[in-house]
Amino acid sequence: FENRPAIHAEAHKAGGSVFAARSTQEWQQLDAAHHLHPFSDMGSLNKVGSRVITRAEGVYLWDSDGNKIIDGMAGLWCVNVGYGRKELAEVAYKQMLELPYYNTFFKTTHPPVIELSKLLSEVTPGGFEHFFYCNSGSEGNDTVLRIVHQYWAAVGQPKKRYIISRKNGYHGSTIAGASLGGMDYMHEQMPSQVSNIVHISQPYWFGDGGDLSPAEFGLKCARELEAKILELGAENVGAFIGEPFQGAGGVIFPPESYWPEIQRICRQYDVLLCADEVIGGFGRTGEWFAHQHFGFEPDTMTLAKGLTSGYIPMGAVAIRKKVADALIAGGDFNHGLTYSGHPVAAAVAVANIKILREGGVIERVKNETGPYFQKALREALAASPLVGEIAGAGLVAGMQLTEDKASRKRFANGGEIGLKCRDYCFKNNLIMRATGDRMLLSPPLVINKHEIDEVVEKAAHCIGLTARDLG
Ligand code: PLP
Repeated sequence: FENRPAIHAEAHKAGGSVFAARSTQEWQQLDAAHHLHPFSDMGSLNKVGSRVITRAEGVYLWDSDGNKIIDGMAGLWCVNVGYGRKELAEVAYKQMLELPYYNTFFKTTHPPVIELSKLLSEVTPGGFEHFFYCNSGSEGNDTVLRIVHQYWAAVGQPKKRYIISRKNGYHGSTIAGASLGGMDYMHEQMPSQVSNIVHISQPYWFGDGGDLSPAEFGLKCARELEAKILELGAENVGAFIGEPFQGAGGVIFPPESYWPEIQRICRQYDVLLCADEVIGGFGRTGEWFAHQHFGFEPDTMTLAKGLTSGYIPMGAVAIRKKVADALIAGGDFNHGLTYSGHPVAAAVAVANIKILREGGVIERVKNETGPYFQKALREALAASPLVGEIAGAGLVAGMQLTEDKASRKRFANGGEIGLKCRDYCFKNNLIMRATGDRMLLSPPLVINKHEIDEVVEKAAHCIGLTARDLG
């Protein structure tokens, strides 16, 4: 990507790192002594030591041993504009000097949050004019819950309190986020989740479709929503929430028949349709928002990650006008966070969205790099006995590891095989994620074709090594 300025070269020239260097061993010992990592088994992690990432530029990371690693995951699906964006650093610096913090409670506001809201109203599809801010995707989904309850109370239907979501969906790690999500291991850890949330099946044709065609299976899954609404009583159901494609669940792309049917059902029973766009938003599929790829129109959109490209934490909820109007007319909305609309985060988000918009980044994903990536992956893995399906669009892909391609038979120990493949990637300096028996890629949206070749070659090589081990 031609216009990819490098902050790091300059930062190093200007005096180097913020923290003095230590040896890898020293970093690892201190990390093990004082730091508990998210979603980790600390006992086993501390035995091997974490990889210490020290700097990044473009689509590459460097670790404390000097290894150069290509980031096939854009961090955690978030560094859409790539690493080393000097303009984002400069905006944060200027904003910190001018107004590092002020809140948006108590009848106050500030220019960064106003400019961001105006810009979001321009880049989101028609009908979204209002935005509520928070610090993460999880908080965004907590906010969606509050909005759903507030909305139905405001329009005189306060009984509409059930929210329907999906098994193997991921909506974050706060209590409400985990409750909305359908990850069994998170429910088991804390059984006392938020009430009035129920889950239906995921539209995972490869694993669950049986003899049905993808189109038939998509309709079958969507109609589970209808059955659940009828079971609970439409007068008690407030919303359905789903990721347009499941990210953390394994980059599961639903059959084309799925979302139009979900939308029909939501409209028929007067149920709000909430899209969790935390991964899909800001260009991942080649559209600004992933629901546009699937052709439906949600009432709320949860945003985070690509909103600031991960340079600073920020989340938001985009609220369709009919819902926002009811909230505005409905009196106090008793929800907010100290950092709702944080001025530095908002200023970075504005600069980030301008890079995406004015740099033509998303058009490039749609017309050039996305199709190139999807084709290259399919060609490189066509002959692999291990890859039964490649799902994806734009710059996101999920590769299904399978014991038998023809019958779509899954491995009994698929999770172990995924981790084995991930270990090979680690050794070959590629970041590729394993979710059970699916290998996931989601590189920065500014990746160029040469870098795509590198990701694809390394991914195919590591999947090949894994297949060889299985005999
Ligand atoms: N929703 C989706 C679809 C996500 O993928 C994630 C995180 O991966 C979240 C919500 C939670 O976001 P956060 O980790 O910023 O709280």
